[in-house]
Amino acid sequence: MLGMTDVDVDMNAEIGVIGGSGFYSFLEDVTEVEVDTPYGSPSDSLFFGEVAGRRVAFLPRHGRSHHIPPHRINYRANLWALRSVGVRQVLGPCAVGGLRPEYGPGTLLVPDQLVDRTKTRAQTYFDGEPRADGVVPNVVHTTFADPYCPTGRAVALKAARGRDWEAVDGGTMVVIEGPRFSTRAESRWHAAAGWSVVGMTGHPEAVLARELELCYTSLSLVTDLDAGTETGEGVSHTEVMRVFGEKVGELRKVLFDAVGALPATGERDCLCVSVHEGWKLGMELP
Ligand SMILES: [Zn+2]
Repeated sequence: MLGMTDVDVDMNAEIGVIGGSGFYSFLEDVTEVEVDTPYGSPSDSLFFGEVAGRRVAFLPRHGRSHHIPPHRINYRANLWALRSVGVRQVLGPCAVGGLRPEYGPGTLLVPDQLVDRTKTRAQTYFDGEPRADGVVPNVVHTTFADPYCPTGRAVALKAARGRDWEAVDGGTMVVIEGPRFSTRAESRWHAAAGWSVVGMTGHPEAVLARELELCYTSLSLVTDLDAGTETGEGVSHTEVMRVFGEKVGELRKVLFDAVGALPATGERDCLCVSVHEGWKLGMELP
């Protein structure tokens, strides 16, 4: 690990990946840097490396030893930290439950919609409260009708198909508070509502990225059929980890292909860039 005196050279990246340790641990040349934010510390250090000629910052969402449960992740610090080192496009791989029988374990879905059923999470930078550093952001209502970056979604789908993985194009991710899995009744309800997959971390990650004018794309790997469609005892952590372990290598290849195919920072022409046109934010984005 480098000391803080060395960070100027190594501490920059244009693309962020928030995921498990499997995504950076195989890189030969990573630089680990601790980053602080006005919202506190992110889940872990940022790990800087190069993929397909692009500078990438990896952040283990649950910490490197997977010790932070979904409802206690400091999502605001995570996204802020990434933006502060230059990141403008974020890929967010995550494990989800499938809510339809055809979305069985091993399915990769790139959602285009999101339903928030979380309860206790700080999900805005514009909450009308002064920050610890004295900055008072304005009240801002951010456009979120389409919560994911259309460019990032297209790139992710193409990357998956390039690896012969027929990813599902679109669908709704419902995000629950966790850390427990759903009851059968909840799961049947989510499925009956027409939603596609259920996860615990996709929100507020997506909205905070949008508030920081970052492009955010979710790559949702189905590890189980949620409780409503399970005939056995419901979702178990062991099963989730088994399927994730089987597929993680493949998902990593897809992610790296996607990293190489994302537009340059200055060439983004999606809605994410101009989402705050006409608003006075009352704070500087890092
Ligand atoms: Zn975008």
